[in-house]
Amino acid sequence: MRAVTVVGASLAGLYAARELRAQGFDGRLVVVGAEPHQPYDRPPLSKDFLTGGTDEGGLALTDPEETADLDAEWILGVRARALDARGRTVVLDDGRTLPSDGVVIATGASARRLPGPALAGVHTLRTLDDARALRAALVRGPRRVVVIGGGFIGAETASSCAALGHDVTVVEAAPVPLAAQLGAEPAQACARLHASAGTRLLTGVGVTALRGASRGPAAAAHITSVELTDRRVLPADLVIVGIGATPRTDWLAGSPLSLDDGVLCDDGCVTALPHVVAVGDVARPGGVRAEHWTSATQQPRVAVRNLLAGRTVETARPLPYFWSDQYGARVQFAGRRREGDTVRLVEGSLEAPDEGFLAVYERAGRTVAALAVGRTRPFMKLRRTLMAAWAADPAGEPVAI
Ligand code: FAD
Repeated sequence: MRAVTVVGASLAGLYAARELRAQGFDGRLVVVGAEPHQPYDRPPLSKDFLTGGTDEGGLALTDPEETADLDAEWILGVRARALDARGRTVVLDDGRTLPSDGVVIATGASARRLPGPALAGVHTLRTLDDARALRAALVRGPRRVVVIGGGFIGAETASSCAALGHDVTVVEAAPVPLAAQLGAEPAQACARLHASAGTRLLTGVGVTALRGASRGPAAAAHITSVELTDRRVLPADLVIVGIGATPRTDWLAGSPLSLDDGVLCDDGCVTALPHVVAVGDVARPGGVRAEHWTSATQQPRVAVRNLLAGRTVETARPLPYFWSDQYGARVQFAGRRREGDTVRLVEGSLEAPDEGFLAVYERAGRTVAALAVGRTRPFMKLRRTLMAAWAADPAGEPVAI
């Protein structure tokens, strides 16, 4: 293999570039990224970066020394527009074409937006540029902030806004935020964290309209209020829309790859074409698409091994894991829960989550997943046990110890 193109210059793309060199690929390596930035870390964007605890330098995922060692050509600020029918040429927005013996797809996901005309003061949070804009708006003084969506990004952003002294309301369409991921009872416990910092949480209500008004004859309309399905109207100076992310497969339309909520690939991250692999938030290996930091860093090793072998020689099924930081507490989850699992509290209280708790999910009397709030040490111990059990059961679910 003489030339490999990595499309997407973020977390999974960088890890893939590292793996290519670590696994002995010494040919032409091109990394294409739509953003103008060198790879940076997204998790701090909704946390320390927003509150001012981390500056832009603290987000860097690589440094000039490593960049030189990788000996890659970085094409940044340019989008890949297409992959040809054989998967051998990546076409860029500026008209350049990159002949490729292998392609790594690492184009991640983009923030979902609400329909309707654009209004000043309405933000999403996915990129460094989004975070810069939001941070600049937040430092202009205490404001009425409405966060639409009570998922992880919404909860973390609400937490950061509350820490900055803003008046925060979270609007969530489901009866309990994160119930699909955590199960109703543990999710309810996590939702109680909002109240610990005075954030209002409105559940079971959707948004019907964002209203705005112009602040001067030549000024663009600025958000003034959020209208809800129960006819309530929330006055707002700032709105953050956190309603999920869509995998960035737009540029692959017309390619022979199977696209369905991400790029479909086998458990080794190999797509319908053996010399094209997909990693990170855009990839759906074995029918499961994760949007977690840990998956984006674990998948590239196996994907690159298979890419260089020209076929799937290794599969990986790492134990799903993610964390989130909200209201001073670290929330951690590992494993894969199912509807009907029994939740057993190991320590702490679901009623007072700000004091922390550790809970496990059990199926047929065996532990299959774990959730902790502010209980990092016992959680990590449990996670290691779960990982060992998961690894010992290559046939698939259930994970069990
Ligand atoms: P991305 O990071 O989305 O990168 C994809 C890159 O590809 C982008 O730079 C994009 O511009 C580029 N791209 C897209 N299309 C093209 C194209 N056609 N051509 C060229 N380039 C393209 N996970 C956790 O586990 N814990 C957390 O606490 C946590 N916090 C988060 C907080 C925020 C605010 C966000 C946004 C995410 C958070 N995550 C967290 C998720 C984690 O950051 C992602 O799982 C991770 O960034 C995925 O990496 P990726 O490289 O697959 O995709």
